Amino acid sequence: MTNTDTVDVIATAIQVKELALAGSELVRITVNTPEAAAAVPYVREQLDRMGVDVPLVGDFHYNGHRLLTEYPACAEALSKYRINPGNVGKGDKRDRQFGLMIEAAIRWKKPVRIGVNWGSLDQDLLMQLMDANSLRDQPWDGRQVMYEALITSAVESARRAEDLGLDGNQIILSCKVSGVQDLIAVYRELAKRSDYALHLGLTEAGMGTKGTVASAAALSVLLQEGIGDTIRVSLTPQPGESRTQEVVIASEILQSLGLRMFVPSVTACPGCGRTTSTTFQELAKQIDDFLRAQMPIWRERYPGVEALKVAVMGCIVNGPGESKHADIGISLPGNGEAPAAPVFIDGEKALTLRGENIAQEFHQLVQTYIEKRFGQGSDL
Ligand code: SF4
Repeated sequence: MTNTDTVDVIATAIQVKELALAGSELVRITVNTPEAAAAVPYVREQLDRMGVDVPLVGDFHYNGHRLLTEYPACAEALSKYRINPGNVGKGDKRDRQFGLMIEAAIRWKKPVRIGVNWGSLDQDLLMQLMDANSLRDQPWDGRQVMYEALITSAVESARRAEDLGLDGNQIILSCKVSGVQDLIAVYRELAKRSDYALHLGLTEAGMGTKGTVASAAALSVLLQEGIGDTIRVSLTPQPGESRTQEVVIASEILQSLGLRMFVPSVTACPGCGRTTSTTFQELAKQIDDFLRAQMPIWRERYPGVEALKVAVMGCIVNGPGESKHADIGISLPGNGEAPAAPVFIDGEKALTLRGENIAQEFHQLVQTYIEKRFGQGSDL
């Protein structure tokens, strides 16, 4: 999801492009004001001019019914609407305003994500469920009631949308919470109780390592159980950090689980007292950065290159073995080893690099391997 002001068409289009190039297959943008709604078609046009066809999802809260009705070009330019049932209006306005958004989705043939979030849960529904719970012989604990409110809000809203005429295949549900165990519990139950497509995400996961690990822990358990059709990692960027980090992490989660491939993978050992130079760390990072940076071009030029496996290892202990498991791997010399770096290609020792330019030469070997194996006209 972008964090630019949508009214700033150029800044938003640039960030959407960055996210798409990093691997995002859907980008959500904030549509919070009439000015933002008016800007959406221009963001789409700008992206089309830049050759970026990634679908845009509009994020609506409070006034989505008005924006989708009064700005038809916005409704048309978006590829999906995210509606939060906790933020569509109160009392008797809720059903009418929700209905207007669903009518827009039907009119423009757009899917809708009904996205419940425990930070903005429908309070009337929660109170009803708490009242009902208090009448039970053995009341559930408060957390269980919260789970029930999240799931009920999502499922009942989806059914209401279907009653209004939206096809069930056009509905995606999400119930986001910020605790790992809470997320797993809610989605397991949600998956049991509905057949709608599910979008996964640990909301407000936090910054840096904490947000990354928590997101990976929660999403991996669910994905491994076959739960989830789309995912998002919600990271608070460090000051100055690229917004693309959350896309990188999301794709790494899917790739680590073997569910999707996005970029060639680099296997590197952690290093230890057997290699005190930083050469192998630098080479591993250079290769990783190089492969990632090339992917926007390589996706087109070298179909299948995302499945490539490269190994960069620090010494003879596991270096040759791990390198043989990769498509192309190098085992750098550890302390006391001869200053030679055997390179393995397709499981066989192909050559040995020596001297000052091992890094550059290995870089070139990787590039040549990719060209030969994945280039047009390759016979491998
Ligand atoms: S491959 Fe060598 S340098 Fe790397 S962790 Fe193993 S023993 Fe240490």
